[in-house]
Amino acid sequence: MDKRGRVFSGARPTGRQHLGNYLGAIRNYVGFQDEYDCVYCVVDLHALTTLEDTGKLKEWTREMTLDWLAAGIRADETILFVQSHVPQVTELHTILSMVTPLGWLTRLPTFKEKVRQQPDNVNYGLVGYPVLMASDIALYKADIVPVGVDQAPHLEFTREIVRRFNHTFGEVLVEPQARHTEFTKVLGIDGEAKMSKSLNNHIEIASTPEEIWERVRVMVTDPARQYRRDPGHPEVCNVFSLHRFFSAGEVAQIEADCRSAAIGCVECKKRFAANLAGHFAPFRERRARFAADPDYVWDVLADGARRARAIADEVMGQVKAAVGLP
Ligand code: ATP
Ligand code: MG
Repeated sequence: MDKRGRVFSGARPTGRQHLGNYLGAIRNYVGFQDEYDCVYCVVDLHALTTLEDTGKLKEWTREMTLDWLAAGIRADETILFVQSHVPQVTELHTILSMVTPLGWLTRLPTFKEKVRQQPDNVNYGLVGYPVLMASDIALYKADIVPVGVDQAPHLEFTREIVRRFNHTFGEVLVEPQARHTEFTKVLGIDGEAKMSKSLNNHIEIASTPEEIWERVRVMVTDPARQYRRDPGHPEVCNVFSLHRFFSAGEVAQIEADCRSAAIGCVECKKRFAANLAGHFAPFRERRARFAADPDYVWDVLADGARRARAIADEVMGQVKAAVGLP
């Protein structure tokens, strides 16, 4: 089938994926495969800019890849690989850094935030983070990059760097388009902050039904509902907002029963936990099968790297020729 272009996206290996990662990113990754050639990258080099402990990188790469594969990333079509396995990206990073004004980098809101977050570790790699991201995207001549609101400035930056390179050296690189994904901001079990691994308010999609219930049981619901007999307000309840995704058939009933106090929060959570466990049952089964073979993930990633390298070699040949490297 003819695809409409190439999608590139990368994610830092941060371990097992949670509902926020699933609804905000993985689901889109899976969907893009029907229309586009997809290149999905575990950006381990990017992870180095903030990691204090790199000892987990390998394990987290494996866990994240297992989640992606089990969720429906088709590694025979899609190129799924690890950033550092295709070192050409660091070469392009060096070349693109020569057409990047330093002021552009230090003015980016994401950089300023990192400086606030880790004032004692404002390393050179952190400043260059967006140049490395631009290199990932440009190296694979991606047409489309799915971005959430937080990453939008980085993609705009990538487009400017590509334009600058092409203007200086000739039309070699492709200016990517942002695809603003329907952003579903999933809140954590605290019902307040964005679900995130680092806040430990997350529910891992690979959880067993028992583990799901442990997390769902303590989820914060409608704060105004104190007693079982009080009518609930589904519109302000985080559990209800997630029912919308995982309880398709009974959302209307749950909403009505909550408002009329026919069910309490415990019952509502029990149904949510059961539906969540049911939704991810085939996922868990596939994941267990993939995980049983210790080589499977690494074989997939090695094959992905081989295919990625073929593209990278060709593009770097064009880039070096355009720049005039001997
Ligand atoms: P960390 O706590 O280390 O930042 P994280 O759990 O926030 O990790 P990221 O690696 O930052 O996860 O995010 C990976 C992808 O998942 C990104 O595309 C991000 O936009 C998406 N994502 C992460 N958390 C959420 C969330 N709560 N709701 C929606 N999307 C999310
Ligand atoms: Mg995050």
